[in-house]
Amino acid sequence: MRWAAPRLPYDSRFRPANVTAMNDDRAWVHTAIDALAREAARSADTHLLKINLPGFAGIDFYFKDEASHPTGSLKHRLARSLYLYALCNGRLRKGQPTVDASSGSTAIAEAWFARLLGLRFTAVMPAATAPAKIRAVEALGGACDLVEDPSQVHARAAWHAANGACHLDQFGLAERATDWRGNNNIAESILGQLEHEPHAQPAWIVCGAGTGGTSATIGRYLRYRRLPTQLCVAEPSGSAYVHGFRNRDARACASQPTLIEGIGRPRVEPCFLFDVVDAVIEVPDAASIAATWSLDELLARRYGGSSGTNFVACLELAAQMRARGERGSIVSLLCDRGERYAETLFDPDWLTAHRIDCKPWRAHLDDCVRSGTAPLPGPA
Ligand SMILES: *Cc1c(COP(=O)(O)O)cnc(C)c1O
Repeated sequence: MRWAAPRLPYDSRFRPANVTAMNDDRAWVHTAIDALAREAARSADTHLLKINLPGFAGIDFYFKDEASHPTGSLKHRLARSLYLYALCNGRLRKGQPTVDASSGSTAIAEAWFARLLGLRFTAVMPAATAPAKIRAVEALGGACDLVEDPSQVHARAAWHAANGACHLDQFGLAERATDWRGNNNIAESILGQLEHEPHAQPAWIVCGAGTGGTSATIGRYLRYRRLPTQLCVAEPSGSAYVHGFRNRDARACASQPTLIEGIGRPRVEPCFLFDVVDAVIEVPDAASIAATWSLDELLARRYGGSSGTNFVACLELAAQMRARGERGSIVSLLCDRGERYAETLFDPDWLTAHRIDCKPWRAHLDDCVRSGTAPLPGPA
């Protein structure tokens, strides 16, 4: 079906001399918003996969498969929201290039939406980003501006913005670009999908914090819906979020780097809302990576490292529930596809080079799944 460009509300011939007409630019904004609305209408919701683990009778686990978006990660939702937010704020004009700092998943989704809208897009990324992610951005027509020092990505994106690009600014805007009261945000989607399940109000929802947008949206929505569900942020050991949460300190920095992409930020990002989070669980990188193998066995599909981090935190919370004799459900996210990490997390030589030994963790996690015991602190 052909669709018509939105019509101007009045004919310029009858315009009083002192009123400026809606210009071409505004008509383009309408066309662009229309394109985003139609993309959303064509999209299906992501699956909420259910698994039961032998050691955890009475506790149902659900995983929201955000890898099944067209761009392979939960950042598909964010990218759509960021473009919409830039357009509705009058910050993005016809023909204007776009830019963002990203560890990869957001860049892939933003490049995808830039192509949809006929815009140029540049991703500013750390040079160490998984090569498959860089190739994915380029395949979508995006440009990659790689910086050696990961702490310089924000400054570099600001430089592009100073030269005329629209800064989509995932780290500055994720939390407000997402409509937290609903509009099919991830929290509304999860709770809708749980509606007919035995434990429709989960005991816990578990997610990581990259921009902090997902945790902010879920935390706000749980309150808005007046649910008893608690929110747990699962993070790599020693991340800025871990330290910041402890003392509500927005100046906290990570005490160690992480190999898990998408989460474990080196600094407290502007969209981290500590007040809506009930618990933070720290997960060592080796445990997160080993847990992606457990997920592969349980779901017959490979997911990225942050999904493994979530899984370990789910087991930890489930073991605590089991020890207290509680039943209920725990929901978490499968954040992105494992294929992206074939040359990193899933390459044994790469792991050896980064001094990661997953074997003890794999055996330990298998044990926890069988026996219903807590995975942390785990093997040294
Ligand atoms: C961004 C990201 C996260 C964290 O989500 P936020 O909403 O940005 O906090 C987790 N995992 C992956 C793979 C991501 O790309």
